[in-house]
Amino acid sequence: MSFEQRVAQLLVEVTEQVLWREIQPWLRDRGHRIQLHCRVGSGRATHHRQQGARHSITYGRKMVASKRCPLQAELWTTAREIRARGYFRGQWGLAELLAHTCCHEFAHLVQSLNGWYGRGSIHNAGFYQILDRIHRSGSAQRVLEALLRAAQDAQLELGFLPPGAAARDTAPVPAPVRGQRVRFQYRGKLVSGVVTRIHRQTVRVENHGIAGVGYFRVPPAQLQLD
Ligand SMILES: [Zn+2]
Repeated sequence: MSFEQRVAQLLVEVTEQVLWREIQPWLRDRGHRIQLHCRVGSGRATHHRQQGARHSITYGRKMVASKRCPLQAELWTTAREIRARGYFRGQWGLAELLAHTCCHEFAHLVQSLNGWYGRGSIHNAGFYQILDRIHRSGSAQRVLEALLRAAQDAQLELGFLPPGAAARDTAPVPAPVRGQRVRFQYRGKLVSGVVTRIHRQTVRVENHGIAGVGYFRVPPAQLQLD
């Protein structure tokens, strides 16, 4: 089993052992009867999905590979969140980035129960209230500690690779997921937006600018991850 596969499996375990366990009283109080299935995906896609009372969280093997590379790690929304919102006191390495990834996906689960999804605005104020609470309450820190312990037990070193070393593992063509921030060139200008739909050949990106909302259909190969 590859390093990435084993690390992704640890993310599955700490999500269940920490976040899922700690939310049980909250679920009971509100009468939410849901199931959660966490799994490792073979690609890059990392997301929460819901079908009725069945929730799933997928951690992509290639997401782990990409986040191991310090230059690519910078490009992920989760890295930006840690820096911008001061999570883990703004200090982050691979372990913090992966622990926060668990918190980010779990915040989507809570968000879906709260019904705070808006079209094209998945990472909205309601989402960040939840994510802030996961960090403030100490849950995120417990995820990090559990992850570090599990990695040590499994003799996996959670550190960034030297720049360039991961290039072989991480395909340059990104597989975007819904809700992800991306950038692309449009008529000579760099446009940024949020992926709202994945089609077979293109993805739909929404851009909220001063002139209103713009919609674009962009081939995935032209996207830069934001
Ligand atoms: Zn998200």
